[in-house]
Amino acid sequence: MRMRHPFKVVIVTGVPGVGKTTVISHLKEIAAEKGLKVEVVNFGSFMLNYAVKEGIIEDRDKIRTLPLRKQLDLQARAAKAIIEYAGEKLGSEGFLVIDTHALVRTVAGYWPGLPKHVIDQLKPDMIAVIEAPPEVVAGRQARDKTRYRADFGGVEGVRRLMEYARAASFASAVFYASTVAIIENLEGQAEEAARQLLSYMENL
Ligand code: ATP
Ligand code: AMP
Ligand code: MG
Repeated sequence: MRMRHPFKVVIVTGVPGVGKTTVISHLKEIAAEKGLKVEVVNFGSFMLNYAVKEGIIEDRDKIRTLPLRKQLDLQARAAKAIIEYAGEKLGSEGFLVIDTHALVRTVAGYWPGLPKHVIDQLKPDMIAVIEAPPEVVAGRQARDKTRYRADFGGVEGVRRLMEYARAASFASAVFYASTVAIIENLEGQAEEAARQLLSYMENL
């Protein structure tokens, strides 16, 4: 059984609003300065793309409100498409960085973003968990008017989701012996978080 892709696969997880997309954008810049080949994809964007083509939703924050069988279908298609895309873009070197979630709070309960069928496609070298104090995450959610995250239950909801999501990341790491890196994204320090993440990546 093949355990790894030729390129290195880094999955970035963390509760909504913790700063995954922000940290990854810094990572991209720092990696470019260092001459490292990094391809970034957002898992939710691949799912949304299919959902939009089918005319069912237009907003990424509506994905988790779809019937679970539909979310599963979109999840499976996204995982396959991402690996195909990375193969074309990266060939046999560099890093594929995937912006996604280890756990999704759906309308039918907590649901793994990285179950076995997804991990069988992605074969991650590393699963990074971006974290910040729950009060800070709730504050970021409230400040960011570009997204709808009001369904996460404030500080207490975030605290619980963080705890479960961390456990979910470790569970997903078991299938393909992925490392788990916990990265603190403190206020005003997203660039430092990106540097920390990159230093783990360079040791893969
Ligand atoms: P989602 O899972 O919903 O996509 P996310 O984890 O990708 O969320 P971002 O969109 O990157 O989160 O960040 C959420 C908000 O927090 C944004 O307004 C962003 O500017 C802000 N933010 C991110 N990191 C920091 C930081 N270190 N300090 C201050 N603000 C931050
Ligand atoms: P994001 O912009 O990263 O928050 O992604 C938008 C939405 O896509 C999330 O709120 C989830 O509903 C969905 N999503 C992202 N990654 C996954 C995944 N691995 N499995 C299931 N749903 C996901
Ligand atoms: Mg994001």
